Amino acid sequence: MSLQIQFICELPNGVHARPASHVEAVCKNFRANIQWFNERTKATGDAKSVLSLIGTNTIKGDICQLTIEGEDEQVAFERLQAYLEKEFPLCDEVFAEVDDSIGPLPRSLANLNPKIIRAKAVCGGSAKGKLYLVSGVDFTKMTDFPTACSVDQEIEELQSAVKNLQKFIEMQISLTNDTSKDILSAHLAILNDSQFNQKLAENVVEKGNAGKAIVATAHYFSEQLKASNSTYLQERELDIRDICFQLLQKIYGEARFPAKKALQEDVICVAEELTPSQFLELDKKYLKGLLLKAGGTTSHTVILARSFNIPTLVGVDTQSLVQYLGQNVEIDGELGVICYDLSDKVNRYYQLENALQINLREKQKSFLDQEGRTVDGTKVEIAANIAHPMEAQTAFSNGAESIGLFRTEMLYMDRHNEPSEDELYNTFCQALESAKNRSIIVRTFDIGGDKPVEYLNIPAENNPFLGYRAVRIYQEFLDLFRTQLKAILRASAHGNLKIMIPMISSMEEILWVKEELMAIKQQLRVEKIPFDEKIQLGIMLEVPSVIFIIDQCCEEVDFFSIGSNDLTQYLLAVDRDNSKVTKHYNSLNPAFLRGLDYIVEKVHHYGKWVGICGELGAKGSVLPLLVGLGLDELSMSSPNILSTKARLAKLNKAECRILLNKAMNCRTALEVEHLLAQFTMSQGDVPMISTDSITVNPDWQSKEEIIKGMTDKLLIAERCRYPRKLAEDIWAREDVFSTALGYGFAIPHTKSEHIEQSTISVAKLATPVLWGEEQVNFVIMLTLNKHSAGDQHMRIFSKLARRIMHETFRNQIMNAQSAVEIEQILKTELEI
Ligand code: PEP
Ligand code: MG
Repeated sequence: MSLQIQFICELPNGVHARPASHVEAVCKNFRANIQWFNERTKATGDAKSVLSLIGTNTIKGDICQLTIEGEDEQVAFERLQAYLEKEFPLCDEVFAEVDDSIGPLPRSLANLNPKIIRAKAVCGGSAKGKLYLVSGVDFTKMTDFPTACSVDQEIEELQSAVKNLQKFIEMQISLTNDTSKDILSAHLAILNDSQFNQKLAENVVEKGNAGKAIVATAHYFSEQLKASNSTYLQERELDIRDICFQLLQKIYGEARFPAKKALQEDVICVAEELTPSQFLELDKKYLKGLLLKAGGTTSHTVILARSFNIPTLVGVDTQSLVQYLGQNVEIDGELGVICYDLSDKVNRYYQLENALQINLREKQKSFLDQEGRTVDGTKVEIAANIAHPMEAQTAFSNGAESIGLFRTEMLYMDRHNEPSEDELYNTFCQALESAKNRSIIVRTFDIGGDKPVEYLNIPAENNPFLGYRAVRIYQEFLDLFRTQLKAILRASAHGNLKIMIPMISSMEEILWVKEELMAIKQQLRVEKIPFDEKIQLGIMLEVPSVIFIIDQCCEEVDFFSIGSNDLTQYLLAVDRDNSKVTKHYNSLNPAFLRGLDYIVEKVHHYGKWVGICGELGAKGSVLPLLVGLGLDELSMSSPNILSTKARLAKLNKAECRILLNKAMNCRTALEVEHLLAQFTMSQGDVPMISTDSITVNPDWQSKEEIIKGMTDKLLIAERCRYPRKLAEDIWAREDVFSTALGYGFAIPHTKSEHIEQSTISVAKLATPVLWGEEQVNFVIMLTLNKHSAGDQHMRIFSKLARRIMHETFRNQIMNAQSAVEIEQILKTELEI
C-alpha cells in the first residue's frame, strides 16, 4: 500500500535548489520511500535528493504528486500534507532587491574583509602603490626673508620674478598640448591679473621686502577666495598659492624653496591639498593614484588628474592614513575605496580587476578613431556632452566625433557675478583648440528653474520645471544673453561652433532669438570683428509644442537636438526630479517613442538634421530603437562613447527599424523592455553556450574569484554590461542556498536583467575550491535574461541536474580538455 498527496506547485521560481533542499530535509525524517511526480513533465524524482527533485523540472502551476510508501508512511503522509499546505509555498520568498544607492562593495571584495577607508571618487580606475605624502605649501611658516639694501631693489626683484615666471609659463604652454596647457594658461592669467599685481606692488612698498610681499599677497587672495560661498572659487585658492610659491622660488632659488622630491617607484600620493603645478611636477610614470583631503570635482588638480587618467579620491581623512605611509595601498576610483594592510586575497581581487580593465581597453581601442556606423554602413555621429571647456579634450580622446551639447550654465554657477565676454570667449576658444575643427554645439545658458544662479536673484518657484528658465529669462537678462552670443560668435572665427537654444516652445521665441543674433552679428561686422557668417543655429526639442510646428521651425533653424530628459517629463507630465512619480517617467513609453518617430520623420522631410542629447542617448539597451528612428547624432557623456560605437557596429538599420515599429505598437513600456531584451538576445544569433564564456584551468582560487571571473568574462564577451550587478544577483541566490550540488559540481544561477544574452558559462578548475560546504571543481553558471527567458531557467537547471546524476556525463565533461570540447558536450546533452 502507498499513500499519495496531490498538490499544485505555487513557488514563483519553481523547484530550484533552495526549495528542493527544504523538501529533501523534511522527507529525510522518514524511512518511507517518497517519490515526487510531475504530471506535466511526467518526470519522477526521489524526494530525498535535491538533484533528483530539480530534475523533475517543476515550475509554478505544475500539478504534482508525492507517493509515500514504507512502514512510517502514515506519519510521513500527515507531516508532508501539512508541510505542503503551509510551509512549502513560503519556502522561497521573492529575493529582496539589492539597494546599491549607498554603493556597497561588490560581494567578491566584501567577502574578503578588506581593511578600507572610504572617500569620494572623482576619477575612476584602480591603482596600487606605496603611500607617499606630499606636503603642502605652508605660507604661515615663511617669515624669514633676506632684504636687499633698498625697497627699490626689492621692487625690481619682484617685478623681474613676475616677468621670469610669465616667460617660464609661456614656454611651458608652448611645449604642452593638453589639459595642462589650459591650467597653465589659467595660471598665466593670475600672474597677469591687474589686481594681483597691484596687491604685490602695494605689499612690497609696505613691507619693504619681496618675499613678505608675496606671502602677504597670497594670504590676501587666499582668504578672499576661501570665504567665497562657491566651491569652484574656493578651489581656485590653491592656484594662487601655487603661483606665489613659484615666485618665491624665482627670487630665492629652489634650494630654499625646493620642488618635490622625484618619485622613484609606483606611489599613491596623499596630500592635504596639492597645487596644480605640484601635480604637474610629479612624475606620471610613477604617480599611480591620488588621495586628497581638499579638492572638489572642479579643482584644477582634480581636472588635471582626470586628464592624466589618475585614479583619484577626495575628502580623504589624510590623518588616518599617516600610519600607513610607505606601505602598499590599493585605491579604487569606482568604489571610492582605499584598501590598506592588503591581504593576498585583496591583492588578487585587484589583479583580476586590472586585468579586466586592460582587456576592455584593448578591445575598444579600435573604435577610438572610427566613425559611428552600423554594420550596414549607416552613419550615426557619436558626440559628447560636456559642461566645461577642459572636458572637451577628454571627450575627444575618448573617441567623441564632436561635442553635441556644451551645457554652458556651469560657467555662470558657483560664482558672485557673471563671466565677462572675454572670459566666455576664451572658454569657447579653449574648447575649440582641442576640437581641431570638429564641431561643438554650444547651448546658450539654461539657467533658472532647477538650475539657480544666486546673483541673478530669480525667486524660487513652486513649479520650477514649468517656470522661468532657459530662453524664457533671456529678455529680462538681455545683457547676459547678448554677451554670451557675442562671445560665441567671436570664438566661431576660430573653429566649428554651432549655437543651440534651450526650452524653445514657440515660433515667437525662435524669431526673437534670431533677431537678437542678427543684431549682434551686425554689431560685430561694424566693429570689424571676425566671426563665422554661416554659423548654424539649432534648438533643443524638449517642449512638446515644437513637435507640431517642425515644418515651420525648419524654415528658421538648421538643426534640432532632442532633450529627452525634459521631453519625457513634459510629454508624460512627470517631474523628472520627483521620486514619487519615477515609475511614470519612462522614455520607453510607446507614446514617447511614437513622438520621437514623428519628430525624426518630419525633420528629415523638411531637410534638416536631428540628434539626441538627453540620457536616453547613452542607454545601450535602447540603442537599436535610436538607430531605428534614424537619428543623425547621439550625444552622451564621454565614458559611454566607445561602448556605443562598438554596439552600433553590430546593429543593422533595417532590423532596428522593424524593432522600432514593433515597439511603437506595444501597449506598455514593459512590453517595449521585453521586446528590447529579446532583440538583444537574438542579435547576431549569439549562442547560449560558446567558448567565449568557457574557461579551462583559470587561476581562480575561491568562490569569490570564480564568480567575479565568470561575470567579468561575460562583460568581455559583450553579453552583459554591468558584471558587478550580475554578480550581485548570483550572490543573492548563493546567500540563501549554496548551489554546490554534489559530485564536485556547482550551478550558480540567476534570472537577471543584467545579462543581455542568456548564457551558460563554464569554469573547469584545476584545483578544487570550497563552495559552501563542498569542494567543487566544475562550475556551470546559468545567467538567463529576466525578460526573455520564460521558464528556460528551470528547464535548463533541472536538465543539468539530471545529467549530473549520471556518471557517464560527469566523467565525460570532467575529462574534457578544451573549451571546444566542453561546448560540444553541453550543446548535445542539453539539446541547445
Ligand atoms: C534634456 O533635457 O534632455 C537635456 C539634455 O537638457 P538638460 O538635461 O540640461 O535639461
Ligand atoms: Mg533640458
